[in-house]
Amino acid sequence: MAEIQLKNIHKRWGSFVGVENFDLTIADQEFLVLLGPSGCGKTTTMRMIAGLEDPTEGDILVDGKRINHLEPKDRDCAMVFQSYALYPNLDVYENIRFPLRMRKVPSSEHKERVMRASAMVELDDFLHRKPAELSGGQRQRVALARAIVRQPNVFLMDEPLSNLDAKLRVSTRAQIKNLSHELKVTTIYVTHDQIEAMTLADRVVVMSAGVVQQVGSPTDIYDNPANTFVASFIGSPAMNLLEGTIEGGTFTGKDVKITGLHSTLSGPVTLGYRAEDASIGGDAPSVNAPVYSMELLGDATMVTFRIAGAIATVKADKDFRAKIGETVAATIPAATCHLFDATSGERL
Ligand code: ATP
Repeated sequence: MAEIQLKNIHKRWGSFVGVENFDLTIADQEFLVLLGPSGCGKTTTMRMIAGLEDPTEGDILVDGKRINHLEPKDRDCAMVFQSYALYPNLDVYENIRFPLRMRKVPSSEHKERVMRASAMVELDDFLHRKPAELSGGQRQRVALARAIVRQPNVFLMDEPLSNLDAKLRVSTRAQIKNLSHELKVTTIYVTHDQIEAMTLADRVVVMSAGVVQQVGSPTDIYDNPANTFVASFIGSPAMNLLEGTIEGGTFTGKDVKITGLHSTLSGPVTLGYRAEDASIGGDAPSVNAPVYSMELLGDATMVTFRIAGAIATVKADKDFRAKIGETVAATIPAATCHLFDATSGERL
């Protein structure tokens, strides 16, 4: 069991605010991802849970017990970093075994536990190699096995995939997902990669400048972003955000008009839509504008316009072709649009 409660956590260094009022309960066995751009406070939040950083204010509880005063070694959290942190002169077996020796686990248990952990990350054939004789992906798996072997209450993972190449990242990501499912350990995972967040998380916490912007399931934050920051951070490509005005259910911006919006608002707004919800052509198109660029994606063609103060994308059929500068019509269905306050960016 490990339910983690973060109660009104703040971290300040002098007048600089690293994390502001982080307040969240992480359920036992939940896979929680902290997502946001560089410097938004993800690592600091995780380091406070690990005991490597003291909160300036607020309480951290595990299963209802306050742990603020506990040393990192007494917190039962296993950390995996992007920089593997392996001992270069120990072989894989000894690297994985290391936490058992440190924690004075009876040596009669070591072999079985190391073998079980190494099998889980498919390292059985590499046990006698030194880290220098391994690939980046294999080293990261040693780091994972070293965390698993401890049988901790909590896994803390700080960008564990960021040093791997794109292909290896995808396969190791799947392995982490599978491990977390199998081990049933509460996991907090830090990343700035929204695809990692979407694929791994039970819940995602989107952060910006030390402040939590939204907490929700991947589908929640994709379908109902709380503000323009979240909308522009989630999805590939990110949500298109157009500047314009709304009146009588019609949004108007430069080179774009969308009718039939279910809204009684009037005045300036930011309208969001996703490229995959829009289409080329249509009987009453919302856009009639020159094509700015085209990208062939294999399964689709991404058509880009410059409308309403923004670069706006439409996902077209894979065979669609148009010349740059050619005027093309596109339809953005009203039912798929999101409206945000033009000033605050909050969802309306
Ligand atoms: P990254 O993805 O780049 O690791 P992050 O979201 O994990 O970023 P943090 O490492 O949590 O960001 O840092 C949050 C902010 O706090 C940053 O602006 C950072 O410069 C600042 N910060 C971190 N540690 C300290 C410190 N010891 N003293 C002062 N400021 C710090």
